[in-house]
Amino acid sequence: MLASPIRSSQASGRLGTESAFDVLARARELEAQGHEVVHMEIGEPDFNTPEHIKKAGEAAIAADQSHYTPSAGIPDLRDAIAEYASHFRGIEPYERANVVVGPGAKPIIWNLLSALLDPGDEMVYADPAYPAYESCASYLGAKPVPVPLLESKNFRLDLDELAAKVTSRTKALVINSPHNPTGGVLTIDDLKVIADLAEKHDLIVISDEIYSRNIYDAEFVSIATLPGMRERTVIIDGFSKAYAMTGWRLGYAIMPPDLARSVTLFNNNTFSCTATFVQRAGIAALQGPDEPVIAMVDEFRRRRDAFVKGLNALPGVTCKLPEGAFYVFPNVSQITSEDKKLASFFLEEAKVGCLGGSCFGAAGRGYVRFSYATSLGHIELALERLAAALPKFKNA
Ligand code: PMP
Repeated sequence: MLASPIRSSQASGRLGTESAFDVLARARELEAQGHEVVHMEIGEPDFNTPEHIKKAGEAAIAADQSHYTPSAGIPDLRDAIAEYASHFRGIEPYERANVVVGPGAKPIIWNLLSALLDPGDEMVYADPAYPAYESCASYLGAKPVPVPLLESKNFRLDLDELAAKVTSRTKALVINSPHNPTGGVLTIDDLKVIADLAEKHDLIVISDEIYSRNIYDAEFVSIATLPGMRERTVIIDGFSKAYAMTGWRLGYAIMPPDLARSVTLFNNNTFSCTATFVQRAGIAALQGPDEPVIAMVDEFRRRRDAFVKGLNALPGVTCKLPEGAFYVFPNVSQITSEDKKLASFFLEEAKVGCLGGSCFGAAGRGYVRFSYATSLGHIELALERLAAALPKFKNA
């Protein structure tokens, strides 16, 4: 075959990737060959979407809610989000003009950073991190500036290090609490220090709160509730994690109206709008019974406790008890610093899907990430398989 003369753009060479999707693809290949894989690689609840949400989606399709909508989302959903977000966070009410809806939080992050960052701007974020922030900032020619999370602080930020990384070029600071991939949760005192820093240096705080319902030992606090922070915070949230709606693709961000208009323009230029019946289902999620969300969180807590206990019994593995999200981030550095190699061994040998910590940034080296959004039975099976496989791992 002749080599194609088509070349991708230089900018596309700066894109990162969310490795979970690559590992999922390999896990599916193994399944197609007849293996039974325990899926702990991708961050999605194993629960089905609650019935009342599915019914609302079905009813919307039956009622021919299948036409284009405004690029920022249908007014009813934006109103429902504004009301939910204000009530849940205990904050002065947001309005429709603050809300921009998209097909998942991920494209909203992309459009938000596109609307915010110029080449040369610096974006400070915690390392390890959900890969989308760094990927987008790099693509835009902005400079992603990582600040390591500390295992010794149960994966919270070193606040002195954070302050030291802020320069006159820093435009935005990204926080994500509860955190992917570590499960870490920032305390109110952490948030106060971050808020002071933002005020002092006139920074925008992007607060990715997509795991705000997945918190086990404390009340969720948004940095937007701190004095002066409402106007300089952009909240990212969505339906994937709280309502088990990953495949529906529905997310949003809340921000001052001027910025919302700019992000909406990026929506208009990219996906135009989000599927109408999906947005209708989103209204049902926010306005319907909350019990399914609470039941899922209770079950996640049981799974977390069982998995962390089991991981700590494995030789060479130490694992902190994560306070939120549905990930554990055990330290495997006594076994190897080649975390991606170990993760690949776990998949190929033990048929347990997980990710090397360095997929999430340099500070993730020597850790692996497991999602415990799978049944207790699968968690027990994974622990048995990991224990049986580990002695065969060759650290060469
Ligand atoms: N932010 C974080 C921290 C995430 O972990 C994820 C999904 N893994 C997202 C945003 C995006 O979620 P979605 O696009 O499904 O709404």
